Amino acid sequence: MKHDYDALHLNIAGFAMERGTLTGTDSLVRMERLATEAQGSIESTVVRYCAHGSMRTDGVSGEQAWLVLTAEVALPMICQRCLGPVDVTVQFEREFRFVATEEIAEEQDEESEEDVLVLSRDFNLLDLIEDELLMALPVVPKHTVCPGAIKLQVADPGFAEDVAEKPNPFAVLGQLKKWP
Ligand SMILES: [Zn+2]
Repeated sequence: MKHDYDALHLNIAGFAMERGTLTGTDSLVRMERLATEAQGSIESTVVRYCAHGSMRTDGVSGEQAWLVLTAEVALPMICQRCLGPVDVTVQFEREFRFVATEEIAEEQDEESEEDVLVLSRDFNLLDLIEDELLMALPVVPKHTVCPGAIKLQVADPGFAEDVAEKPNPFAVLGQLKKWP
């Protein structure tokens, strides 16, 4: 059976019972809060996501709707080490369990490893993806290896000379020992 699911209006219980899968992409431009974190042009930047629904039983609460959600985006940011532009891959994979009411969700969220949310027939999956990506943002965006790093060191010959001229303390010690 094939279903077309709408990421903006997802019926969570139905999606879980049908063991639905929803993969898609959305323009970063449409995720305004996340877009403000980007530096430079984001017109061609897309967020990729994939959601899987399922029903699981924990023996206590009976069957519950679960969602496994992953998403990623290559966010243009500024490297805090070399101040050059860098595309930082921001991604997450999380599990969500859905319960009937806000009270139950609040009560169980703290003691659960997974996030506990309230069941909805009109769930905005893209809002949740944006929330999670915002939380997954690096505190200090930077290149794994800055493209200008090696050039910068070579471009400072004074620094290299300083290092070369400084006598090795162990070599000095060795010379002293030769004295009778
Ligand atoms: Zn850098």
